[in-house]
Amino acid sequence: MMIMRLVQEEAFSEEIEALSKPVDSGVKTKSRIKRMSSIIRLDPFLDKNNVLRVGGRIGKTEMEDDLKHPIILPRKSHVTELLISHSHDKTHHQGRNMTTNEIRRSGFWIISCSSAVYSFVSNCVTCRKRRSEPQVQKMSELPFDRLQPEPPFTYSGVDFFGPFIVKEGRKEMKRWGVIFTCMASRAVHLETANSLDTSSFINALRRFMSVRGTVRQLRSDREQKFIGAKRELREAVEEMDDDHLKHYLSD
Ligand SMILES: [Zn+2]
Repeated sequence: MMIMRLVQEEAFSEEIEALSKPVDSGVKTKSRIKRMSSIIRLDPFLDKNNVLRVGGRIGKTEMEDDLKHPIILPRKSHVTELLISHSHDKTHHQGRNMTTNEIRRSGFWIISCSSAVYSFVSNCVTCRKRRSEPQVQKMSELPFDRLQPEPPFTYSGVDFFGPFIVKEGRKEMKRWGVIFTCMASRAVHLETANSLDTSSFINALRRFMSVRGTVRQLRSDREQKFIGAKRELREAVEEMDDDHLKHYLSD
């Protein structure tokens, strides 16, 4: 009560002085306080401890006195700040309305309470952590092959997916899918592979290129089958009869 009185004396000294004067006969509370006072709307009065409280018409209810006539606190004071902080913690950082309700429930009336609570909550580190938007990373520039205006599948990417269980006769077997995508148009071509080894990848690649045409560049991750296929294809190219090939192509 002592602390409340000190805070109120600092903020509402004129009102308290006006209210402490003996009530003249016929003079109403409102006319004793200046019209411009920020608390005139609240019909304030001084209780037996000389604490300024909200008046009003609900004095006859059975509620606690603190709820019927909350203690008035100014918008800006250290005590107000502490009260908001305490109520906010007590409601486990549940946001503005819950904090405001907790303050009212504890029997306090803060002048422009919702904006005081709003500014407190918007500066609360815990709340900002909990309610902040996830950060979005800026994507880097697209690689060259994603931007070239070339026929579809000139620049392609490849990966395996699966396995899927299929039935051959009575046997259950694993089969994989091979997905080829065009880097520029994002078109998709699907093949199947009987296993994860290099030769079944090369078979899938040949079927793909028979339908879609040759590929200038093929992107993949560094799985064993792709690395193996790369090595085998390079060796195959090296083994090729250069002269014979030149002849054939110029024909
Ligand atoms: Zn908070």
